[in-house]
Amino acid sequence: MKELTENKMVIVMKSALTIWVGKETAERAQEALVAQNGHRFIRIAELEETINSAEIEGIYTPERYDELQRIKGGEYKCIWGKWHKRKEICECMKKSIIRTKEKEKERVRNEENRVRTPDEKKSALNIMRKIEEMSILKNKNSIFRMKYLKGFGTKSIRRSSIVKWQENGQKADVNDLSIEEDVL
Ligand SMILES: [Zn+2]
Repeated sequence: MKELTENKMVIVMKSALTIWVGKETAERAQEALVAQNGHRFIRIAELEETINSAEIEGIYTPERYDELQRIKGGEYKCIWGKWHKRKEICECMKKSIIRTKEKEKERVRNEENRVRTPDEKKSALNIMRKIEEMSILKNKNSIFRMKYLKGFGTKSIRRSSIVKWQENGQKADVNDLSIEEDVL
């Protein structure tokens, strides 16, 4: 359809007859209609026919003609630019919201399944270690401290963590902890 109607215009006659013509013929017909100078007959080169301009309902692009046909068939175009059957309720807004939500869900899923870069892995491990070290410093009876003393998990407390802990005026009990000097 697209190829057939490309660069074509359609003359719709009052009789509902449609005549597909080239741009040139359409332009001549439009000029005759607008001029109203008595040239009532238009030669359609494509058909070797002559038509009476008074019998023309309109001259349309293929797109506009398609719209006219749909409207005649009872369809309507909603504000989202979608065609609906006469009794069909427009759910374009609802569908659009659902689509947006699904896209967001997929985005989150993709983000969660993404392979982490070495830097991201390092940063995640560092955060975990920091939390662990803070818990060890915070409470002598914490599970983390017990684990630490038994040799599981963190093997030494970094100096930077102790400094960070003391920054808030907290006392760090480091008696039984081994301290790792790191760059602050
Ligand atoms: Zn709609």
